[in-house]
Amino acid sequence: MRRIPDIYAAGRAARRPVISVEFFPPKTPEGDARLFGRVLPALAAVRPDFYSVTCGAGGGGVRTRTLQIVDRMQREHGMTAMAHVTCVSFTHAEMDGFLDEAAALGIRNILALRGDPPAGQSDFRRPAGGFDYAYQLIDVLKARADQFAIGCAGFPEGHPECREGRETDWRRLRDKVEHGAEFILTQLFFDNAYYFEMADYLTGRLGVQAPITPGVLPILNARQIKRFTALCGATLPAPLVAALDRLGDDDEAVTQYGIEFATRQCEELLAAGAPGLHLYGLNRSRSAVAILRNLGLAAQAKTP
Ligand SMILES: Cc1cc2nc3c(=O)[nH]c(=O)nc-3n(C[C@H](O)[C@H](O)[C@H](O)COP(=O)(O)OP(=O)(O)OC[C@H]3O[C@@H](n4cnc5c(N)ncnc54)[C@H](O)[C@@H]3O)c2cc1C
Repeated sequence: MRRIPDIYAAGRAARRPVISVEFFPPKTPEGDARLFGRVLPALAAVRPDFYSVTCGAGGGGVRTRTLQIVDRMQREHGMTAMAHVTCVSFTHAEMDGFLDEAAALGIRNILALRGDPPAGQSDFRRPAGGFDYAYQLIDVLKARADQFAIGCAGFPEGHPECREGRETDWRRLRDKVEHGAEFILTQLFFDNAYYFEMADYLTGRLGVQAPITPGVLPILNARQIKRFTALCGATLPAPLVAALDRLGDDDEAVTQYGIEFATRQCEELLAAGAPGLHLYGLNRSRSAVAILRNLGLAAQAKTP
């Protein structure tokens, strides 16, 4: 299974952007059938470089579902896939067991995340012997020699919890790279200026060399995007809100608008030298396929 840092290195050498698409584990067998039977085959036609699968931050079987989906992507579809791993509710001993399981399945790429305390648990306390921050998970992954390639999350508008401001958050992001993260995938944003400011600060001021790939979410539904952005602390620019308000509940029109908006956003990001695009796929293929075709990136020959 290919290591994602090697894919970025090959992309840089060939001067072509690295395309990744993110999914979440479906909650039902019908969702699994749709993902593996329709969504992934449709996306395979435009050949993204790799796929990533999110993971809940609570306990129970949520992380195991992530491993199951990544395993199926790798084994049945020959895809390069990455498991998101959250550490906020794991003890170190549980994490070791979980990473052994991932390694035994042949999973080689991990996005190391703190995660958010489980929804509705405002009194959540990390387990004794647990993790406070993502860099501590990166240390654990790094200590396993080269078993896993390690990515981490970055926040162009600053992480919403970071009261000290964006630059403090970005210095902590630099620290994650110094602890061993080899690439950065960003939170979604709708004003490219946020990404450019973060990328300039990290590369120019802090000397970060790891690829910083912008996360782009094609909008599908006006109410859903207002909820998402409120949850993750991303700004919806006023002209975008006005356009969404005009389109209202017409999801077909919103999807078309979302494709056009994301295409323009991606064009500008790539023209300015972004190393790739991380598309938040929301377990659908239509918008991602349309955007990659609009960008002329769908037909590129790539090593599978
Ligand atoms: C690409 C991407 C994918 C994601 N996938 C998932 C997913 O699959 N599942 C999920 O649950 N969530 C996911 N998230 C959300 C993420 O888990 C949350 O935003 C979480 O709140 C922060 O995670 P982190 O890994 O950035 O944490 P950290 O890097 O640990 O940062 C969290 C906060 O702590 C602060 N901080 C860091 N280090 C220190 C320190 N030494 N001292 C004091 N403060 C510090 C930071 O400034 C920040 O405010 C994803 C986010 C992105 C961008």
